Amino acid sequence: MENKAYIALGSNVGDRFGYLTQAIILLESHEMITVVNTSSVYETDPVGYTDQDQFLNMAIQVETNLSPFELLDTCLRIELKLGRKRQIKWGPRTLDLDILLYNQENIETEKLTIPHPRMSERAFVILPLLEMDPSITLPTMREPLKNCLLSIPDREGVRIWKQKNGEDVFALIES
Ligand code: ATP
Ligand code: CA
Ligand code: CA
Repeated sequence: MENKAYIALGSNVGDRFGYLTQAIILLESHEMITVVNTSSVYETDPVGYTDQDQFLNMAIQVETNLSPFELLDTCLRIELKLGRKRQIKWGPRTLDLDILLYNQENIETEKLTIPHPRMSERAFVILPLLEMDPSITLPTMREPLKNCLLSIPDREGVRIWKQKNGEDVFALIES
């Protein structure tokens, strides 16, 4: 498949790990998407709206023939399928899928911004990404992403919850 993208997954309601794994299975089952890598799963103190349960967060790398907008629509559809309801901004959710990067493209529309506009401030996004590719760069930044970690205060709020083991992308889910 032609394009390489990274997607962040988050859940803090109900069977959090179940929602993450179901989301990965649904993405992989799309004929235009292949999941090529997954990070470990991290547990994260909520930021923004803090009166809610802890999140599980992870990131995945996919290859796809979908355009960025088609990939977004697919992600939003999977969120709805897994019970996502939009209520409080940054509030509790069964599943959140954010597109972080799509090749080295820079997209700014009302519906879609890539790179994800808040990713470089979020340790719960940067840590799983760097786990998959420590040298990752953003089209909008001169420095490598890992330099952002130095200035992030919420880094201690992010802990490994389930370590990835093995090379297979589904090793995480099967173990
Ligand atoms: P945040 O974006 O700060 O992480 P959030 O994930 O809670 O907050 P949502 O309510 O899930 O925000 O998303 C609102 C809208 O953001 C989506 O409907 C989508 O149109 C838009 N959006 C813009 N850029 C992206 C992106 N890169 N990935 C996913 N959604 C995006
Ligand atoms: Ca989000
Ligand atoms: Ca989102």
